[in-house]
Amino acid sequence: MRALVRRAGGVRLEDIAPPRLQRDDDVLIQVVLAGVCRTDVYVARGALPVNEPRVIGHEFAGVVLACGPAAGFRAGERVTVDPAMACGACASCRTGGACAEPLFMGVQTDGAFAEQVVVPAAYVLRTPEGMAAKRAAYVEPVAAALAVLNAPLDPAGRGLILGDNRIATLTGRILAIHGFSDVTHASAQEIPEDAAPFDFVIETQATAASLAVMFDRLKPHGLGVLKSRPAAAVPINVAQAVRKNLRLHAVAYGPFERAIELLASGALAIDDLLGEAFALEDFERAFAQSEASDSAKIFFAVSAPAAPDARGAQAGQLAHA
Ligand SMILES: [Zn+2]
Ligand SMILES: [Zn+2]
Repeated sequence: MRALVRRAGGVRLEDIAPPRLQRDDDVLIQVVLAGVCRTDVYVARGALPVNEPRVIGHEFAGVVLACGPAAGFRAGERVTVDPAMACGACASCRTGGACAEPLFMGVQTDGAFAEQVVVPAAYVLRTPEGMAAKRAAYVEPVAAALAVLNAPLDPAGRGLILGDNRIATLTGRILAIHGFSDVTHASAQEIPEDAAPFDFVIETQATAASLAVMFDRLKPHGLGVLKSRPAAAVPINVAQAVRKNLRLHAVAYGPFERAIELLASGALAIDDLLGEAFALEDFERAFAQSEASDSAKIFFAVSAPAAPDARGAQAGQLAHA
């Protein structure tokens, strides 16, 4: 099968052996459309080191091809995945808690910029039959934006989403749907010098500079929400945080089911955030465009599902939706 592989210091489109079902709960999925995320670009560019060779990609819409006897899926079902999978080996996993170091698809396990991928059933989610592939491939970013609701934010509070990018826009819409009425999103430069301080600040791209702005702009006892995944460690001014009694809350994902619901019902408008779909062969242009603009999601149109019947034909249409 064709796959974008990080190997020997670069990325190549390779023809590799397709993954196979190994465990009883494994699901073999045909990837239809996959989204390009910052994490994927970090891996492609070598900013986030991985064990090579590694197939990149973690956001996608697909169709079940086959599964193990205990997986509980059927061939032909439309699916997406939660890409952060419990390692099963850390102290927290062994004592029945949430995993301390989840394996991330496309980073620690092979990913979705490939025609096929195998994922344990616990991380596979059904998407509605009629949902456009770009929406189904956008479930993971929406679940990541929903994560801010895991932090104890006051809907009546004065909030700032820091960043002038797609994730800031998406996060703002998520908060609006959930009853927040006094939230602005802006880049650091756009915030007036004399703006009143904020009850909470959400970062969408953590750098030393953006976290300094977060700490400056929060009220004493204010809440800073960390949600981005920078490739390297970011320094913070601990003394300033202590002086102001700041609270910091890091969040990874909200419920994927809720993300699917919001996308299926149309309650969340996202069409303006969805960009062009490239062929896998065009990966250099796709990554370059993804790096150049943070305003629209770039996709790979990976494959059109086989069309043995009406259902398959419909899935084929979705590939181009
Ligand atoms: Zn992502
Ligand atoms: Zn673990």
